Amino acid sequence: MVKLDLDHVYKMYDNADSYSVTDFNLHIKDREFIVFVGPSGCGKSTTLRMIAGLEDITKGTFKIDGRIVNDEAPKDRDIAMVFQNYALYPHMTVYDNMAFGLKLRKYDKADIDKRVHKAASILGLEEYLQRKPAALSGGQRQRVALGRAIVRDAPIFLMDEPLSNLDAKLRVSMRAQISKLHQDLKTTTIYVTHDQIEAMTMADRIVVMRDGKIQQVGTPQEVYDQP
Ligand code: ADP
Ligand code: ADP
Repeated sequence: MVKLDLDHVYKMYDNADSYSVTDFNLHIKDREFIVFVGPSGCGKSTTLRMIAGLEDITKGTFKIDGRIVNDEAPKDRDIAMVFQNYALYPHMTVYDNMAFGLKLRKYDKADIDKRVHKAASILGLEEYLQRKPAALSGGQRQRVALGRAIVRDAPIFLMDEPLSNLDAKLRVSMRAQISKLHQDLKTTTIYVTHDQIEAMTMADRIVVMRDGKIQQVGTPQEVYDQP
């Protein structure tokens, strides 16, 4: 069971003189698939990065299962994250990219091997494990980024525009793959996009942001089929 509570969360960057996120309130249920949408600069990434612990929360509280985690380091939060630019290590093989976070956390070698092969099998990457990222297609690289995120079985899965660098056809199949990962791995997922179709097809609830604030929260039907 993983529920996330953001209560009156604000973010002001050190070098800024106004809030990038203002009074963000959201209560996310176990295994929900939440999608943040809204125009560029409205605060989607900032909010996601605060949840991941990559940015400090200026004001307000963020709780995982009722426990305030504002001051917990990213590696102590049970969170997997995938970025738009994949952030793969170019000098490492696919295997080592996927194993990296596990080694950092001192998983034993046999366990790492089992987890990497399992993730590779889920994502259809088994035959590419010894390649370097430069020798992969865009879709394969994105699957490696997903693989690296899922090897730990973290119950919270954050994705920041993971498909925006892929062509339209690949986006359709990756959308289905991500929805399936969310179901199969039973994660609580937050997904940032500016693509309305992604939001409509994947979300349990959509959070519409504007100017650092939540403008609307609802099911895809509630958000997009308004009279
Ligand atoms: P608090 O008690 O912390 O002030 P609430 O419990 O009243 O917050 O509201 C939080 C919940 O309300 C969130 O889970 C979210 O789904 C919903 N919510 C927050 N802001 C909005 C908004 N602008 N429009 C619609 N729903 C919102
Ligand atoms: P989105 O993800 O919706 O495009 P962001 O969260 O990236 O929006 O940005 C929200 C606001 O915060 C924007 O006004 C942006 O310029 C500002 N911002 C983002 N990152 C930083 C930073 N590191 N320092 C200062 N301001 C930032």
